[in-house]
Amino acid sequence: MTAKILDGKKMSAEIRASIKEKVLLLKEKGIVPGLAVILVGDNPASKVYVGQKEKGCLEAGFASFLHRLPGTTSQEELLALIDKLNADKTVHGILVQLPLPRQIDPDTVLAAIRPEKDVDGFHPVNIGRLVAGLPASEPCTPKGILRLLKSTGIPLSGKEAVVIGRSNIVGKPVALMLLAESATVTICHSKTADLAEHARRADILVAAIGKPRFVTADMVKEGAVVIDVGINRLEEGLVGDVDYEPVAEKASWITPVPGGVGPMTIAMLLENTLEQAEKAGASGR
Ligand code: NDP
Repeated sequence: MTAKILDGKKMSAEIRASIKEKVLLLKEKGIVPGLAVILVGDNPASKVYVGQKEKGCLEAGFASFLHRLPGTTSQEELLALIDKLNADKTVHGILVQLPLPRQIDPDTVLAAIRPEKDVDGFHPVNIGRLVAGLPASEPCTPKGILRLLKSTGIPLSGKEAVVIGRSNIVGKPVALMLLAESATVTICHSKTADLAEHARRADILVAAIGKPRFVTADMVKEGAVVIDVGINRLEEGLVGDVDYEPVAEKASWITPVPGGVGPMTIAMLLENTLEQAEKAGASGR
């Protein structure tokens, strides 16, 4: 079997075009969706991600408020900025780019964002709502993964789903979302015994590890849907967590890197921000 490509770049462009149209309608009501992005320090990868987010905002017709703070910023200074943005009616979404410098505790900072403005879906309230199966601001990468999976038309209910990686931003939430779709979910991590054995059972295999070409063809079941979340910067360029060519020979669907999950993450961030702007408009918030 040769896999069909799950084209995140194309799907993300379609979603962004539809968001742009909705923004025009909102603007007629006097509402401009606003996203505030906070970048502390000068981590090169973070700068690239923040640049992509700003570009996405501007293309969609959003107001983009970029706050670049020096790497020496104290936690109190960052919390003061978040307080200000929490109260600002022109700001519908607040995103703090991770990682943060050592002197700042990310959990304290993420919990300081008003849950309604937490468009990254990292606030404990939103995580709790996700666990409880209640409507929540869903984290962008997992939300994008689910959108890609659903686009295959393959029902997720009853499928064996194996997620490799248990981070709070990808592995755990994507596992919860797959569970909410009634998949039977296994989460693997660095202490998992016989990881390949688990992976080989998967109808849906999500790799969110951060290790180049970790998932090899012998770990993949014939006909599986393979989602590669990994972004590994090697000298040869960007490489995913999946050994793409040999795995694509076995899978039914596969996401490329780049052009798979990555573009969907930004589209979902815009979607979450738009939804909050629509809700704020409806409630006069
Ligand atoms: P983390 O480093 O937070 O988590 C990695 C996970 O992989 C951990 O749970 C870890 O297990 C597990 N792991 C590491 N080594 C092994 C191993 N040898 N065997 C099994 N499991 C292992 O990473 P993230 O979840 O933040 O990101 C994962 C990847 O996805 C990265 O490449 C990142 O760049 C990319 N990413 C891509 C996004 C996109 O938009 N496309 C968005 C976010 C991330 P343990 O918990 O036991 O340590």
